[in-house]
Amino acid sequence: MDIKENYNAIKNQLPAGIQLVAVSKTHPVQAVQEVYDLGQKVFGENKVQELMEKYPLLPKDIQWHLIGHLQTNKVKYIAPFIDTIQSVDSEKLLAEISKEAGKNSRTIKVLLQVKIAAEETKFGLDISEAKALFQQYVDGRFSNVDITGLMGMATFTDDHEQVKREFLILKRLFDELNQLKTLETLSMGMSDDFPAAIECGANSVRVGSAIFGRRDYSE
Ligand SMILES: *Cc1c(COP(=O)(O)O)cnc(C)c1O
Repeated sequence: MDIKENYNAIKNQLPAGIQLVAVSKTHPVQAVQEVYDLGQKVFGENKVQELMEKYPLLPKDIQWHLIGHLQTNKVKYIAPFIDTIQSVDSEKLLAEISKEAGKNSRTIKVLLQVKIAAEETKFGLDISEAKALFQQYVDGRFSNVDITGLMGMATFTDDHEQVKREFLILKRLFDELNQLKTLETLSMGMSDDFPAAIECGANSVRVGSAIFGRRDYSE
C-alpha cells in the first residue's frame, strides 16, 4: 500500500466529525507534502527539533500539533506558530506556554495529557492533577492558553477490554471537566486502537504508521 491508499483508507474509516491528526514524525517532508496534497491540514510531530526542521519547508497553512513531551526551555521555539500542544503534563509547562504565547501576541491551544495506562508511563498528569490544573485555568490563571481538551494513550496491549477501560477513564474526566468549562477535543487513539478510542468517545485521533508506514529509527 502506498501513502495515498493508506490515507484514503483511514479517512474512509473515520466517522464524520472525527478530527484526524496525521503523525508524520520520522518521515520526510516529501511524505508530509504528499498527504497535504490529498487535503490533510493537521499534522503531529513529537520532537521540537524535527518540527523546526520541517516547518519552514512545508505549506504555512498546516496546523501543527506537538504530541510529544515538551521541555519548558523549548517552548519559545514553537510558540510563534504551533497550533496545538497536546502534551501538557505540568503546571510549569502550561505557565511557560502561556508566557511565550503572550510574547507572540497569541493564544495557543493546548490539551492536558493525562495518564490512563496501567503500564508505567513517564509523562502525563494524574487525574487529580489534571482536575487541579484545569481549575486554575478556569479561575483565569493562564491568560494566553486555551485548554481545548484532553489527550491520553492507552496501554500497548492486545487486550481490547483493557484498552477500552482506559479510554473510558479519560472520557469520564472529559465529561466532568466539560461541566466547568466547555471542551472541544478528546484526543485518544493511534493506528492500532483508534476504532476503540472512537467507540469510547474520542473525537480526535493521532494516526502515524497506518498512513506513512512503519517508522525507521535506525538512522
Ligand atoms: C507516534 C505517536 C502517535 C502515532 O502512533 P502510530 O501508532 O504510528 O499511529 C500517536 N500519538 C503519540 C503521542 C505518538 O507519539
